[in-house]
Amino acid sequence: MSSASKGAAAIAVVVAIAAGYLWGRSDERAGRVAPLTETASAKKAELDVYYPATESLGRNEMRVVALGTGMPSPRPKQAAACWLVELGNGEKFLFDIGAGCHERLAAQKIPYDLIDKVFFGHLHVDHMGDLPSFWLGGTTMNRLTPLRVWGPSGGTPEYGTKHAMDLMQQMYVWDIATRGGVIDFRGGQLDVTEFAFDAVNEVIYEEKGVTIRSIPAVHGLDGAVSFILEWNGLKFAYSSDTIPNKWWAEHTKDADIAIHECFLPTVLLVTKQGFAPLEALNVGTQGHTSPEQFGKVMSMTKPRLAVGYHFFNDFDTQPEVIRRVRKTYDGPLALALDYMVFNVTKDEIRVRMSAVDEEIWPSPPIKKKNPPDTSKVVPFSDFTKSGVIPYPDVVQPIYDEINELYDTDYEPIFK
Ligand SMILES: [Zn+2]
Ligand SMILES: [Zn+2]
Repeated sequence: MSSASKGAAAIAVVVAIAAGYLWGRSDERAGRVAPLTETASAKKAELDVYYPATESLGRNEMRVVALGTGMPSPRPKQAAACWLVELGNGEKFLFDIGAGCHERLAAQKIPYDLIDKVFFGHLHVDHMGDLPSFWLGGTTMNRLTPLRVWGPSGGTPEYGTKHAMDLMQQMYVWDIATRGGVIDFRGGQLDVTEFAFDAVNEVIYEEKGVTIRSIPAVHGLDGAVSFILEWNGLKFAYSSDTIPNKWWAEHTKDADIAIHECFLPTVLLVTKQGFAPLEALNVGTQGHTSPEQFGKVMSMTKPRLAVGYHFFNDFDTQPEVIRRVRKTYDGPLALALDYMVFNVTKDEIRVRMSAVDEEIWPSPPIKKKNPPDTSKVVPFSDFTKSGVIPYPDVVQPIYDEINELYDTDYEPIFK
């Protein structure tokens, strides 16, 4: 296939998949929710595909990108929990950063310096597992800005975000020691803010007209929260993980977009995922939110668009999830897949799937790079150094080439 026809085929597949996953209806209060089934045929010329890094946001627009919608064990189609919120004022936020989501984030082609804020709903691996990769790997992708992290306290200090981040930095001490002296490592700094898990609707972030509040969630242990982001008259609510609770019911009402976990029906947890019946009941209704419970929650929330995530969303599971949600909720609904994109304005919520470019390279740095801080070099032992074969006949010409191109006079470390 030519690359053009390959691209067209990929777009057709993306549109077909996306069309199957969105159910919307007009709502007088809400403004229009544009379902792909309608727009894909009506506006073929525009193709309902989002191409990252090709669209600027309107000044009053919010874009939400699903970067992880699946389970703790990522699979090619769905990584674990991660949601990117981009605002028309240029601000960007990550809510959860679960295992497998980093490559989806890279596919958004956003300079890493612009993604410096991460909020954890709780400390399960499917909500924070790709943080080390994004944090340290990001320093090789031109992030020169410290990474800021917000997360809840626990019932006791050892269950809190600060403790987890302290230990993570200790865990990666070898990685950090290899980088600090050889690249501009400012992006390796971590700025951690722990907030009280039991604070109810208290502001945890307020900058540039953006307010983020946390509410307690009921999931796992004390120390799980949900988030509400408000900006410019738009309201985004994100459950992370929780069973239905009074705080969500009270504080997320009338959200423009409400993203809430919606687990697989318990019977499918048994038949498809291998859970024992009691495990399925415990996990599927008492630790997580079943589709029927999700519908009840959204009937209370009454968002302009309800978004369910946190299940393996396939051709055979999705109809059963919808059937059960529809027992308790008849409003606008999308069941999320990775790369689903929501453009939210006062007038419309547009839902598309994102095209994926697999050959991602880092965006150029936004800041000027500093030379590496050589005082941070941790040297090899004489033993390891004694093993080096320096091949000066090929290495010196490589240095000569760079020195000539960039008017420098660098010399090889190993001679
Ligand atoms: Zn969890
Ligand atoms: Zn989870």
